[in-house]
Amino acid sequence: MAEIKTCTRCILTSQIPNISFNGDGVCNFCTDYEKEKQYLDRDYVALEKKMISTLKVSKKHPYDCMVLYSGGKDSTYMLYRLANHYKLRVLAFTFDNHFIPPETYANIDRVLKKINVDHIVYKPSWNLNKTIFNASFQNSSLQERSKELAFMIGHACWPCFTQIALHSFKLAAEKGIPNVVVGTTPGQLRQKKYDLKSKFDGLADAHKNMIAPMINLLKVLGKKDAISALDASLWIKLKIARMKLVPFFEYNKYNEHHVYETIEKELDWRKTKSTDSCSTNCQLNSLGIAIHQKKYNLHPYVIPLARDVREGLMTREEALTAVSGQVNEKLVDHIAESFGLDMSRM
Ligand SMILES: [Zn+2]
Repeated sequence: MAEIKTCTRCILTSQIPNISFNGDGVCNFCTDYEKEKQYLDRDYVALEKKMISTLKVSKKHPYDCMVLYSGGKDSTYMLYRLANHYKLRVLAFTFDNHFIPPETYANIDRVLKKINVDHIVYKPSWNLNKTIFNASFQNSSLQERSKELAFMIGHACWPCFTQIALHSFKLAAEKGIPNVVVGTTPGQLRQKKYDLKSKFDGLADAHKNMIAPMINLLKVLGKKDAISALDASLWIKLKIARMKLVPFFEYNKYNEHHVYETIEKELDWRKTKSTDSCSTNCQLNSLGIAIHQKKYNLHPYVIPLARDVREGLMTREEALTAVSGQVNEKLVDHIAESFGLDMSRM
């Protein structure tokens, strides 16, 4: 096997498709970014004001917005900012993929007592959940798009994000909530052809680039029940088409230290011990990382964190530490077993 090279500025490696390095060992995504750089020069004060005025809607709607709330650090901070600082009428939405540890629920409980908003937890049936995750774990390489998405977003995160999006959009449409706010960090969902700008800057985009490839994969696999569970009526689809998906951290400058400081001090949020170094809310993430490492010998968070390093949101050393954390093998095997997966044959 050829030696793996790592960019001297970010953390992308020679395993990433279309990567090249200059004489100083800096990758082409970093040199391209230097030319781009608009995110660093943004006027975040004006941007946040603009976001809030978009989110505030008339009282004929039951809420100003639905906030996708995982219980992790970023969405906790976002919820606090929108509900407590800006006094928006918020409905918090949590998707339970059957692998949310009790520690996360304890955080959610403590935080919501302080934030004081309505909250809905959606937990799909185990069979539906298993079918969708297994499509990604076992069969994502069947189609070009699904293979790319599992590589780019992660084998566990792609089916999870797809379900979160579908169920939250449907619920918001049914309730007449016009905006859905998402707290993905800039690097997480801004990966056009392995990096650069956003692919998911609207609902239509999220559907076309994330949900539709999953539905297509389920069609190929003949999973009719899962497809009909994910589908919505035409009336709901028309409502969804008029709703807005607002990526919070495009309007509020992301600063990890400030996020931790705020939520620990103001909301009694506590770091979880039963999740790996890349997630503050989910155990399934560990299986996703293990599958990625088996298939590609690459940590799936290298791609989003490289972007965060480039934008100055975390240091190169912090990112390298995050992606070198070992997954808990016992936990991975235990989770893999519940999906009927044989990790030795991945
Ligand atoms: Zn680089």
